[in-house]
Amino acid sequence: MKLKFLGAAKTVTGSNFLLTGESTSLMVDFGMFQGKPEEVGLNTVKPSIDFNKLSAVLLTHAHLDHCGRLPLLAHYGFNGPIFMTEATKALVELVLHDAAKIAKEAEAKSILYTDEDVEVILKQVLLVEYDKSFDVGDFGIIFVDAGHILGSASVIVKERSTGKRVVFSGDLGNTPEPLLSPTHFVNKANIAVVESTYGDETHGPRKEAEDLTKIIKKAEITKGTVLIPSFSIERAQELLYLFDQLKKEGRMDVKTPVFLDSPMAIKATEVFRDFPQLYSKDLQRQTKNDDPFDFPGLIICDTIEKSKQVKNYDGVKVIVAGSGMMSGGRIIHHAINYLGDPNTQLVIVGYQAEGTLGREILDGKNSVNIWGNWINIKAEISEIKTMSAHADQGQVISWLKKIEGLEEIALVHGEELPRLVLREKIHLELQDVKVVLPVVNQEIDLNL
Ligand SMILES: [Zn+2]
Repeated sequence: MKLKFLGAAKTVTGSNFLLTGESTSLMVDFGMFQGKPEEVGLNTVKPSIDFNKLSAVLLTHAHLDHCGRLPLLAHYGFNGPIFMTEATKALVELVLHDAAKIAKEAEAKSILYTDEDVEVILKQVLLVEYDKSFDVGDFGIIFVDAGHILGSASVIVKERSTGKRVVFSGDLGNTPEPLLSPTHFVNKANIAVVESTYGDETHGPRKEAEDLTKIIKKAEITKGTVLIPSFSIERAQELLYLFDQLKKEGRMDVKTPVFLDSPMAIKATEVFRDFPQLYSKDLQRQTKNDDPFDFPGLIICDTIEKSKQVKNYDGVKVIVAGSGMMSGGRIIHHAINYLGDPNTQLVIVGYQAEGTLGREILDGKNSVNIWGNWINIKAEISEIKTMSAHADQGQVISWLKKIEGLEEIALVHGEELPRLVLREKIHLELQDVKVVLPVVNQEIDLNL
């Protein structure tokens, strides 16, 4: 068996791996590169894979950096099966059509694919259930719940002739978390390809409800604006659920308006409502007599007009808008309107990749250029790290420690510092396991 790293190797985005056996080859994820221009440029470079020999594609989850290049498969001549869970498919449909739409609205040269390409790919999807194994050529495959976003999976691939197992963590959840079932531990594998997004960090105990309460209380007193750039999938639903709870518990004024200003998040919330069987036990219980994603004061901005009207609301307000890293979407016009106002609190609740506006602001830049407008940032900037959908260093180590027979670990989906730090930690905690830090196009022979 050979394993080739074609993306998310020394970076977070562009997840793409190729596992080749005697007569079968599997691609795991085909994600978009995001962030720095030199990485984004890689989206148009055809990976060095023989697509005619590709047997199947396995998709871990619906985030753009894992699924964003799938529609290119048709251009590359692949018309085989693409395996994913049902919830992943529902979300992928939203994510890819959204990506096609953004490309269409931007300059023509940045168009990677169209809605028609997305439809072609969706027809190739075969649904898989968690914990049920299936075969593709030389390999037996099983998807288990990664607890990261709705439908997310870690994928275990077993080469039947040798019994050798490779596990791809996908993105691991910050487990336990309020909406989803916990991350499933993998008990047997020889090689683990593991994410390292927060390999150098510890999230600390979850206290986002407390942090948000403080932020909103302050805004309620000063009649200020709370601006929250949010990923549409998972984070937006988590925020809605938190506001629902805070209002029920009287920690937030029921009248304080919360604008959900992201067409994608609005649709993703509908997908969440379709899969209650994937909720955490707690959430399943609560759902019996309440909609956890709805509460008094929630205003859904499903049209651009409603989005534009937000600025006419005087007084305290919360705006949840995409995109999560402020690299586009409706958050942009709110950022232009509100970041120069000292009465605004910008709350970062998710990962901010290098090269994005969110990262620039979080890194403390005093002024930023947003679509040609120079904005002097007067808003108060805060970060709630515990809302991360990713495992931190300790959670990754515990996940690895549960795996019996582990010989080699490849750290992917992380910038250089986090994965160096994580490698040191692994050396301390898991003796005799080789750790590799692959770069793009590196291939390792798993038979050695
Ligand atoms: Zn993810």
